Amino acid sequence: MTAPPTEKPSADGEWTVGKIIEWTTAHLKKHGSDTPRLEAEILLAFTRKCPRIQLYVQYNERLTDPQRAQMRELVKRRAQAEPVAYLVGHREFFGLDFQVTRDVLVPRPETETLVLELIAAAKPHPQARILDLCTGSGCIGIAAAVNLPAASVTASDISPAALAIARKNAESHQVESRVRLLEGDLFGPLGESDQFDVIASNPPYVADGEMATLPPDVRLHEPHLALQAGPQGLDVIRRVIAGACGHLAPGGMLLIEFSPEQAPAVSQLIEDAGLFDAPRLIKDSAGLVRVIAARRRTSV
Ligand code: GLN
Repeated sequence: MTAPPTEKPSADGEWTVGKIIEWTTAHLKKHGSDTPRLEAEILLAFTRKCPRIQLYVQYNERLTDPQRAQMRELVKRRAQAEPVAYLVGHREFFGLDFQVTRDVLVPRPETETLVLELIAAAKPHPQARILDLCTGSGCIGIAAAVNLPAASVTASDISPAALAIARKNAESHQVESRVRLLEGDLFGPLGESDQFDVIASNPPYVADGEMATLPPDVRLHEPHLALQAGPQGLDVIRRVIAGACGHLAPGGMLLIEFSPEQAPAVSQLIEDAGLFDAPRLIKDSAGLVRVIAARRRTSV
């Protein structure tokens, strides 16, 4: 008896997990992505509702038609510069998963430098009081709360939509009882006598004239409210430094993220405030000066 003829693979029989990853990687690369393979895998894992690592044991599996349709749509949008994090609704930051929408900036690796400094500054305080200004998705304050189980975090943002995301993230990381979320402009919603051991912020710091030069992912899709800050990008940083003077406990630490070329100006603003010891500049993982740490003097 002869074996029944094997079915000829149809055209879509070609679309296995492995093939889709290869094709998408090449396509996204052509459209200017720096990390096309990673993005292809994240989009496909999202489509198949599985952890990314699972794709490797599914390499020869075929996609269903709805999966192919969804993947096609996601890849099209990514090729038009929509950030992957918005397409899949979340982003890993400091080893934690954060929900993100277009109402918040996508958490960035350089901001992990700020969180490392924040945790180091808070550690000596048994029950550290932490303030996170312009919290957005909440990633800074929440990462600190997760890593400092006795700390209490206050996080403010001017955007109610951003705070709604921060609230979800605080809940998903089970720190909502230690993360107080306040709506308002910087220190505005705080009580006059509220004091903190550490104040940290990744405020908007892009200069008006730089906005048009940002990569399309950022310029076309991320909230400009969280990015743009006046002619030198220093408008919000200036107000963070001024306001910190009234809310930082003696010996407390102020930590601010900024753009590398702003380092001299930010150092000068700290010095001019007249309340801080000589500040320290800290480089991010890309080797760029990204964070300033300034300790409030214990005596004047
Ligand atoms: N580093 C961000 C960017 O240019 C800016 C973030 C901010 O303004 N806080 O993509």
